[in-house]
Amino acid sequence: MQREQAIIIGSGPAGLTAALYTARANLNPLVFAGDLLGGQISLTSEVENYPGFPEGLTGPELVELMRQQAERFGARIEYDMVAEVDFTRERPFYLKTANGVEYEADAVIVTVGATPRKLQVPGEDELVGRGVSYCGTCDGFFFREKEIVVVGGGDSALEEGIFLTKFANKVTVIHRRDELRAGSTLQQRAFGNKKIDFIWDTVVQSIEGNGSVQNVRLHNRKTGEDSVFQTDGVFIFIGHDPNNWLFEGQLKLDDAGYLITDSHMMTSIPGVFAAGEIQDKIYRQIATSVGQGCAAAMSCERWLAEHEA
Ligand code: NAP
Repeated sequence: MQREQAIIIGSGPAGLTAALYTARANLNPLVFAGDLLGGQISLTSEVENYPGFPEGLTGPELVELMRQQAERFGARIEYDMVAEVDFTRERPFYLKTANGVEYEADAVIVTVGATPRKLQVPGEDELVGRGVSYCGTCDGFFFREKEIVVVGGGDSALEEGIFLTKFANKVTVIHRRDELRAGSTLQQRAFGNKKIDFIWDTVVQSIEGNGSVQNVRLHNRKTGEDSVFQTDGVFIFIGHDPNNWLFEGQLKLDDAGYLITDSHMMTSIPGVFAAGEIQDKIYRQIATSVGQGCAAAMSCERWLAEHEA
C-alpha cells in the first residue's frame, strides 16, 4: 500500500492552494482531483472578483494557473476519485480510490466542495442536457438566439443570467420571492440588462418537453395562479449541498451537512483538515476557499511536525 505524508481530496481553489502550500513545505502532497479538476470554478464563466486579475478571467483559466503553480512545487495530481476513507483508526489514515488503489496518509486535507442543488420537480432529470442545465459556461453556447429561464435569486442566478444574455435573446429569472438574495452590484447589472426579465413570487412545478425543453409549469405563491411559460432552456441556480457522503459517521457535520472545523481548519479527527465549501456555507468565494486551503495546509504541516511518527 502506498504511504503518503499528505493527501488532499479535491482540486478546487481550496485543494489546489492546499497542494501549493504543502508542496512548498516539502510534504510531497498527492491530490485526488475527483471528477472535475478545479471543481465548480471549472464551470464558472467569468471570475471578476478574485484579486490580482483586474480584467477578470474565466474559471478554467484560473484553475489551469493554480494547477501549474501547485505542480511547479512538486504537488502530484491523480485524476481519480476517493471512494472510501477510514479516519476512525489510528494513524495512518486509510483511503481507497474508485479504481481500487489503496493509500495510507499521515494527514488528509478534505476539499471536496459542494454540488449544485436540484429543483426536484418532474421533468428535471429527464431533460438534463436537453435544455435543463446547472452551468451557463458549459451550455450557454447551445442557446444562441433562444429564450431561456434562470431559476433562483442569489448571486449565482444573476451572474449566470447576465452571462447567458451573451447567447440568448431573452433571459427570464424566476424567483420564489419578490426580493433577490443577490448582492446589490449584480442586482443593478441585472435590472439594467434589457435582455433580462423577472417573474416574482413564483416556483417551477414541472419542466416539460418532448425530447427537449418546451415549457415550464409555474405556480405563483402569492396569487395561487398556475401558468405555462414557454422556454427553450431552464438554468437552475438555487444553491448547493456539501459533498459529505464519504465522511458521514466519521467526521462531525453540522445540521446542514457541512464539516465542522476548528480555528485551525481541523475536523473532529486530529490530522484530518478541511477547507472550502465542504466546511464553509457562509462565504463560498474563490478568495475565501483559497485562504482556507492555505490555512489548512499550514495547520497540517505544523500538526505533522508536532506528531512525527
Ligand atoms: P444562494 O445564495 O443560496 O441562493 C440560492 C437562491 O435560490 C436563493 O435566491 C433561494 O431563494 C433560491 N432557492 C433555493 N432553493 C430553491 C428552490 N427549491 N426553489 C426555488 N428557489 C430556490 O446560492 P448561490 O446563488 O449559488 O450563491 C452561493 C454563495 O456563493 C453565496 O454566498 C454567494 O454570495 C456566492 N456567490 C458569489 C458570487 C460573486 O460574488 N460574484 C457569485 C456566485 C455565488 P431565497 O432567496 O428565497 O432563499
